[in-house]
Amino acid sequence: MAGRTDKTTLALSPSRVHERLMKRTDQALAWDGGEFGPWQRRLRRKLRQLLRVPTNEGWPLNVRSLWKRDHALGIIEKVAFQCEPGADAVAYWCVPSAGEPPYRTFICLQGHSTGMHNSIAVSRDDEATPIEVAGDRDFGIGCMERGIAALCVEQRCFGERAERELPTTSEYNTCHDSVVHALMLGRTTLGERILDVDRAIDYLASRGDVDMKRLGVMGNSGGGTTTMYAAALLKRIRAIIPSCCVAEYADSIMTLYHCGCNCVPEVMHYADMADVIGCFSPGPCVIVSGQDDEIFPIASAKRSVKALRRIYRSTGSVKNLKHVIGPQGHRFYADLAWDAMCPMLDRM
Ligand SMILES: [Zn+2]
Repeated sequence: MAGRTDKTTLALSPSRVHERLMKRTDQALAWDGGEFGPWQRRLRRKLRQLLRVPTNEGWPLNVRSLWKRDHALGIIEKVAFQCEPGADAVAYWCVPSAGEPPYRTFICLQGHSTGMHNSIAVSRDDEATPIEVAGDRDFGIGCMERGIAALCVEQRCFGERAERELPTTSEYNTCHDSVVHALMLGRTTLGERILDVDRAIDYLASRGDVDMKRLGVMGNSGGGTTTMYAAALLKRIRAIIPSCCVAEYADSIMTLYHCGCNCVPEVMHYADMADVIGCFSPGPCVIVSGQDDEIFPIASAKRSVKALRRIYRSTGSVKNLKHVIGPQGHRFYADLAWDAMCPMLDRM
């Protein structure tokens, strides 16, 4: 109709301008092929600043044992410990009968789900009742089967640590409210979760039965995301399995639906995901992807791993980087991942 502006010719979608800005980012601290150590220090410093990781002030852990039971594969104890004043974590400490102290140990992190009860394959409401867990997400069981101890930590905003006091909360994502509030206070949810991993390591170090030289972190999706950023910053982490969380930012976080707990303000001006994980080089790293993952597309994941391999090569440790690709979608692939990781743990 004459005089009416055709909306299809207008740039109304917010993504239009973000796409333009994204193409202009110079990724100032991306791997440049120079000297590894100084680059790693510069990017680590910047990431810690962007993620606003709260300082671990070494508060008392106040460890409490909530229950302890025998399991077909060993013993599982549910514990709580203080992450920071006002924030306690709950976790399952899984000790395998097939292992010997000091135990090889992995911290296991679930992504967006009903929570850490999936890690030991029990009902959320009754932890004595076994359940079937899809997509090999029973991480603690997978560790125990391989003689590895597991500390399955509930991440902030998920499962038992979902918000339960505010008058209203998001209907869609249990992380949403906390993400907004953290940003308003100059924090990020991811930074808070990294503090929780650091405190979980404090707890493990305090036990005296953990092989701190073979301490790993693993997780799928939102658990994998915490794994890789924590590994970039926390030097006590010695091995990682980030699963279904790796791709270039432009093809994943910036194009497909991802919630706010993936957000690292400004990071695209400094680095891409490969650089973040590159800070962990030369540590043993198994990246797990799903061939049909709809939110971390496989072609982009492969490009990230290719870039990451260049960083590992610079530290003479390309053998410590493995990429395994499962035949399905966004899930964990336990056999593929552990078959790649276990020989590297043996060599450590
Ligand atoms: Zn989230």
